[in-house]
Amino acid sequence: MNAEEVKNAIRNVPDFPIKGIQFKDITTALDKPDCLKWMRDEIVRRHKDLGITQVVGIESRGFILAPAVAIEVGAGFVPIRKHNKLPAETVSVTYAKEYGDDTIQIHKDALTPDDVVLIHDDILATGGSMEAAIKLVEKLGVKKIYVNCIIELEGLHGREYLEGKAERIDCLFGIEVDE
Ligand code: AMP
Repeated sequence: MNAEEVKNAIRNVPDFPIKGIQFKDITTALDKPDCLKWMRDEIVRRHKDLGITQVVGIESRGFILAPAVAIEVGAGFVPIRKHNKLPAETVSVTYAKEYGDDTIQIHKDALTPDDVVLIHDDILATGGSMEAAIKLVEKLGVKKIYVNCIIELEGLHGREYLEGKAERIDCLFGIEVDE
């Protein structure tokens, strides 16, 4: 199994959720045991020696691999959720999306200043969601923040947008936004 084979297993769904969007559907890679294992192992290989103490997953597709990676690197798992989903005291970040604002939250006591954090999501597109997640984690005063996504949508400059906002921006592979 290699990056190219996993990339080829990701399905493109045209015009979802709205006309003009080429939706990258990772479920067709997740349901193949070899692809699933390769994705988990590759994220672990790239992050296992960084002293990561917590893997933060972004709702909802960031929740799929983050706990599996956390177990392998000896870290805990922390969810970032949409507004009003977490039960205890939270901190929030509101950010502009294409159609209106969105608010994301994390439990206030989920991370400490000693934590080295890996934030994980499935796709890096413009970088707006990941930037908001970085800001949220920064509010809890952690030591270092690393970023990982499975796919980088090339042509949207998300990586350049995030430059300097985390220790490292890592994606397993790139896919052209219109591919
Ligand atoms: P962005 O904030 O623009 O970087 O968008 C990243 C978020 O939107 C991720 O949580 C992705 O799951 C989702 N996303 C953006 N573009 C796509 C796409 N073409 N296909 C599937 N998910 C996408």
